Amino acid sequence: MDDKPIDKNIILNELNELHSLDHDYADGRILGSMCTEAHPFAKEVYCKFLDTNLGDPGLFKGTKTIENKVIESIGELLSLNKAYGNIVTGGTEANLMAIRAARNHARKYKGITDGEIIIPDSAHFSFKKAADMLNLKIVEAKLDENYKIDVESVKSVITDKTVAIVAIAGTTELGLIDPIEEISKIAYENNIYFHVDAAFGGFSIPFLKQAGYDLPVFDFSLEGVCSITVDPHKMGLAPIPAGGIIFRREEYLEVMAVDSPYLTVKTQSTIVGTRLGASSAATYAIMKYFGKEGYLKLAKNLMENTIFFADNLKKLGYEIICEPELNIVAFNHPKMDTNVLAEKLEDKGWKVSVAKCPVAIRVVLMNHIKRNHLEELLNDLKELY
Ligand SMILES: *Cc1c(COP(=O)(O)O)cnc(C)c1O
Repeated sequence: MDDKPIDKNIILNELNELHSLDHDYADGRILGSMCTEAHPFAKEVYCKFLDTNLGDPGLFKGTKTIENKVIESIGELLSLNKAYGNIVTGGTEANLMAIRAARNHARKYKGITDGEIIIPDSAHFSFKKAADMLNLKIVEAKLDENYKIDVESVKSVITDKTVAIVAIAGTTELGLIDPIEEISKIAYENNIYFHVDAAFGGFSIPFLKQAGYDLPVFDFSLEGVCSITVDPHKMGLAPIPAGGIIFRREEYLEVMAVDSPYLTVKTQSTIVGTRLGASSAATYAIMKYFGKEGYLKLAKNLMENTIFFADNLKKLGYEIICEPELNIVAFNHPKMDTNVLAEKLEDKGWKVSVAKCPVAIRVVLMNHIKRNHLEELLNDLKELY
């Protein structure tokens, strides 16, 4: 740190210079991010709530009410009448809370002290962090030939140490939806906690279904589902950080509660202490501002771009890994190595993401990628073919 105060303008100049090294969503070149530019109204509201602290809700009763209302709205979207949960920093923290709830619940009611969690091969790496922090063993269920969790494989790896089963509604690499209904049944019959990671799909699947897309049930209408992760900072257009964790029952929060002596509430179930009220307020605002109608339009528009892109890739001779279910297209050149193609696209100014399973170029069609950007990208891909 400097000894003496420095003039604001000098500081701002330095920061602006560094900020200019960042990539901008608006130029449509960021192809692999699941985040996007937040809606201006959500940003405006976010700034108003910067000083609120949901870690001490007795001091911020209004903002706490806003968080409760957001959780209720997201719960309703996921077919749950009375929802419990929190707006957290993202899918990672939401998944961590879900797995912690499952572990503590199994410890309390089943006496399991060395638990295991069953996750698909396609699971987000946040579950590795959760297992590491919570001292749980990861057991990976295989994927079927369509890159979805294999139901028989899940059955075969259940043991008396299993504390949770995880399935995904919108996988990070391919945007696919696991057979949640079948897994829910298995979890329910075996009395095992079932968590659905809809970090990516949660803000689009319900609307796409309304729009007539034929997508499977993934929510609390399935009796085995205990919790769902949904990220407002992905297709919800809320500013980062905003993740959502929704629990079916209050007891899942209760098994995580620790005493919080110096605060206005007696116990705390969240992982972080001092935490943003701004994320809840901004999410609340943007959900009201869009309504179901606005999100339906957005989700439909993203899917139309996805299908446009996939169809044109095929016309050019590229091979797509699977028919997209959500707004992700993964593809390869029939002969060129994926990493070589990725480098060539990077040379042309695209910020490319390469999926690992299977290896493929992965384009997440977020709101910042417009038709004209796709046309430019397809032109470059035509040249490189
Ligand atoms: C994005 C994502 C996560 C992680 O979310 P963060 O907000 O980056 O912490 C977890 N699971 C899935 C399926 C995701 O798509």
